[in-house]
Order: sequence, then C-alpha cells, then structure tokens
Amino acid sequence: MSQRPPDRRTKTQENSLFLHEACKALEYNDQVFELLSGASREIRVQIPLLRDDGSLEIFYGYRVQHHNALGPFKGGLRFHPSVNLAGSRRLAALMSLKSALVKVPFGGAKGGIDCDPRSLSHRELESLTRAFVEKIHRGIGPSLDIPAPDIGTNDQIMAWIQNEYSKIYGYTLGVVTGKPLLIGGSEGREEATGTGVAIVVREHARHHAEEIEGKTVVIQGFGNVGTHAAKAFHSHGMKVIAVSDSRGGVFDQSGLDIDALCSHIDAGARVSAYEGAKAITNDHLLKLSCDYLVPAALDGVIDENMAGKIRARIVVEAANSPTTYAGDKILADRGITVLPDILANAGGVIVSYFEWVQNMQQMPWKKERVIEELTEKLSWASDQVFAVATGNECRYRQAAYLIAARRLREAVAMTSN
Ligand code: GLU
Repeated sequence: MSQRPPDRRTKTQENSLFLHEACKALEYNDQVFELLSGASREIRVQIPLLRDDGSLEIFYGYRVQHHNALGPFKGGLRFHPSVNLAGSRRLAALMSLKSALVKVPFGGAKGGIDCDPRSLSHRELESLTRAFVEKIHRGIGPSLDIPAPDIGTNDQIMAWIQNEYSKIYGYTLGVVTGKPLLIGGSEGREEATGTGVAIVVREHARHHAEEIEGKTVVIQGFGNVGTHAAKAFHSHGMKVIAVSDSRGGVFDQSGLDIDALCSHIDAGARVSAYEGAKAITNDHLLKLSCDYLVPAALDGVIDENMAGKIRARIVVEAANSPTTYAGDKILADRGITVLPDILANAGGVIVSYFEWVQNMQQMPWKKERVIEELTEKLSWASDQVFAVATGNECRYRQAAYLIAARRLREAVAMTSN
C-alpha cells in the first residue's frame, strides 16, 4: 500500500478563512461562501498497479471540480504523497479564484494521485497515469476539464494523458496543457509560472517606483517554478542569494551562480550537493534577511511559528497557499508585504490558456507573442490588485480575493437556474 501522509485538513480549513473574509467584506451570505469554498463535483478513484516486482499496489486518485461558471474546469494534477480530497478541494477553489482574477475563461479544478513518483519506475509511472485516465476520462475534455502539470508531474505525464484520452475520443490536443512542444505544447509554458512570478515582482516595484536591480532573493523549492523564477530574477539583475529543495539548500550573500546551479540540477543532483556555495537548512533559509522571500514548494510553510521569524521585506507566493491564515496575520502585523499566490503564480494558467487557444485554432504562436501577452495580462491584473488594495486600504491578498470572488459570484448568478 502507498504511504498515507499526515492529515493536512487543519491547514486546509484554515485557508478557506481568506475566502470567508472576502465574502464578509462583500456582504455575501453563507450560501455564497459555501458555494465558493466547496466544490461542484469530486471524483475519487482506486487504481490498482502491478509493480515491476510482480506485487499489486493500490493507489488513490482525485479530481475536484470547483466551479465552471467562467469556463471549463482547469487546474493541475499533482503526484505527491500529500494528495487527498480535502487538499484538492481547497486548491481547486484557488484555481477558480486565480483564473477569475487574471481573466482567463476557465473555472477551477485540482487533483492528482497519492504517490511518490520518485519511487516508481518509468513503466510504472506510465501505467499509473494511463490507468488514472481510464478511470476519469468521462470527467475531463477540452471543453469540460483541462488538467495541467503541478508538483510531481511534467510534460511527459501530460503526453500520456493526451494519448490515452485520444484512444477513446479521437486525437484531442486540448484535453491537457503543459504538453511537450512536439504534440501541441506552447512555447514558454514550461517556464511560464516562474517567469510570471518575476513579472509580478517587477510590476510591484514599478508601482512603488523602486529599482529591482541588485535586490536580494531567497527561493524555497527548486523544482520547475523555483528554477525558472531564479533564472528570471537573475535576468532582471536581481541577486538570488539562497535556494533549497526538500533536503536542504545553499547560500551565498554575494549571489549564487544560477547557470552553474541549474546545470547541477539538470544533471539530476540535489541542491545541497552543489559545492559552489555554503550549505544551509530549509529552516535557516526561510529566516534569512533579504528583500524577497519566494516560497515555491508545498503549502503551509509560513505558519504561525515561522511567520514571526521571517526577515524578508516582501513574500512572493510562487507556490499555492504557502502562507496559512494565522501566518498571514502575523506577517501583516509585522508590516511584511505579501504578493499572493493567485496573482504571483498565475503565469502558469495564463500560458495554459494560450496553449489551449493554440490547440483549438491549430495554430502555434511564437515565443515572443506568448511572453508579450503573458506580461500584458499579469501587468493588468497586478494593477487591478494594487488599485483595489489602495482604494479599500487592504492587503494585496484581500484585494485579489475581492476582485476574484466578485467575478465568480456574478458569473454564478448569471448562469444559475
Ligand atoms: N498547476 C498550475 C497552477 O497551480 C497550473 C494550472 C494550469 O495550468 O491549469 O496554477
């Protein structure tokens, strides 16, 4: 049997408090809160897998569809031991808010498989993915629900899903995004989330007439989002002084050599094995003094215990939900700015939307166009958040939630019986 993770429901419930706060400010009743914090459909499937050693192992897969008033359900598939129904439900709601905030015509969904993909062989991973599609294919589709990569999944896994789905329904490009370029993926999709994180940071600095060149950045999590964010910060002339993965990190006050570090990671090594800088623990990394702290890994790292120890000026939420409700209140009391997840990491779903458009039109875009339109969408959304925060004298997260919840509530009202 696969290892069950510790129950994360406490954090899960805590995070819907942000939504509750927004509903209260908008004077929405409990029914609207229930609608926005719940889900319209929840799928849980059991997937038996024949392991390479001949043994049988049972896995559990999930897909939670939050709302589709603004467009088909959309969101990532996560392959990780923390995947469960409650977590998928909360992350699905976050996807609806994110798409509504940046105005891409999608609803929200999330899901995945409770597994550790690193403990599976290539053959086992492919079989597990294809068996998952066999179980959920009736619930997904280009105008119904469009999965994408998330933690523990990548373009290869999207290709298997696309292929398995196409066996049943005929060749269908737009059933998933984040595919390899060769089979309908978009230029710029792989780096989209990390690139978007740096665009939002730049827009925020511009709003405050601040320079970003030479500013220090600490990144927790060095997977797809963290590495591409590091490259983008570096290209803006910022100094990435520390990065880490789940085992530990490295630190250099004068700025890490991002190219050398990325080559080290591309060769399959852990961050902590990099010899060009000083080793550091994840705990120490989060407490480093810096301009920007970028949590880019799992949820809940900035909780009530950690929030009091953060020494960054600005927290940039590249991960989904890295700050708990209690942690957020402490950051607010300490005057630490937070650029919230549904804005900061929206670059991924924005370029997913571009990929879906390209698939529908059978017409690939050049990378320059992807980056230009991504920048335009994120600048527009950032300006909206900054303006509402100023107008309502509230934090950026509250502003982002107000904008998104209002759009969702209006769309639901227009489409309900
Ligand atoms: N997994 C990404 C997110 O959480 C992207 C989702 C998508 O492209 O559908 O935003």
